[in-house]
Amino acid sequence: MSSVDRATAWPYDEQGEAREFAYQRNAHPTGKAAEDALGALEGGDALLFGSGTAAVTACIVAFCEPGSTVALAEGAYYGTGVTLTELARWGLNVIEFDQTGPPPEKADLVWVEAPANPFLTLPDWEALRTHPGLVVCDATVSTPVFLRPLDEGADVSLHSATKYLTGHHDALLGATVTRDAARRERLYQVRLRLGLSASPDAAASLLRGLTTLELRVRRQTDSAIELARRLGGHPAVLRVRHPGIGGLISFDVADDGARLVETSTTIIANMTSLGSVRSSIESRHRWEGDRVPRGLLRLSVGVEDVEELWADLAAALDRVGSPAGEA
Ligand code: PLP
Repeated sequence: MSSVDRATAWPYDEQGEAREFAYQRNAHPTGKAAEDALGALEGGDALLFGSGTAAVTACIVAFCEPGSTVALAEGAYYGTGVTLTELARWGLNVIEFDQTGPPPEKADLVWVEAPANPFLTLPDWEALRTHPGLVVCDATVSTPVFLRPLDEGADVSLHSATKYLTGHHDALLGATVTRDAARRERLYQVRLRLGLSASPDAAASLLRGLTTLELRVRRQTDSAIELARRLGGHPAVLRVRHPGIGGLISFDVADDGARLVETSTTIIANMTSLGSVRSSIESRHRWEGDRVPRGLLRLSVGVEDVEELWADLAAALDRVGSPAGEA
């Protein structure tokens, strides 16, 4: 990676005027370069944030006010629901809806996720296009390789760039992409005033990640399609979810089998998060409680050899259902 400018402040020009970069919380060169690259991919103006959650917070603060109703897709990233509940104390009404159908009429802001993590449903774009409210689409899992939400009719595209966009589990980063100049300015002001800015190093990870995004995500998708097919045929697997795009799969085993599977894989790391070149798996019940089935496992498929991944998964699954879990 080329050298990263980590300055937090830059000298004014000869007339004592601020140049393009004056203070890091406003903007910095690596952030600007990464925003230009992501914006070009999605056909809009990108802004980086310190995390996906910071981008979520910025959207709510920028576009809602006390009394606003936010309709959140059921089964979307559980942390988004937690963040909205936290912000509800400031006068927000939060309702959930099934994003495979039309959103509630009265929503001022409709929040969809394409596809939802971990239930992997997709939004009904036709219904969204005719909805009068502001539409925010969290496209973390589809990435611009499979979806440009602004082309589909969303007003704001949002990413946890911590995941596929940076792609190596080594940067915490969020992003929004908009086309409307006033919305971009509103998000920029909220980022600046609430201190939600991204670091230069995380922005550098995004610049690096974007150079291989398409390669990584296409390979992860091909492997995920194959693994989902084979999972569907395994006797220990009760249900498989994969939308046909992206490297994220969720599948259910018997309630008490999830812990055994996640702790039995060796190539596939037992850890949280998703979107890395390294595969990972975890039971989501530990974080989300009864919102998800006890036996639900979320598998983020990396770029390893698909036969090796299947051998690892199959050996772990073969342990489920055998007496006392021994195999
Ligand atoms: N959106 C989705 C779909 C996610 O999966 C996550 C994190 O898992 C977030 C947003 C939040 O992003 P971050 O962890 O970068 O704050």
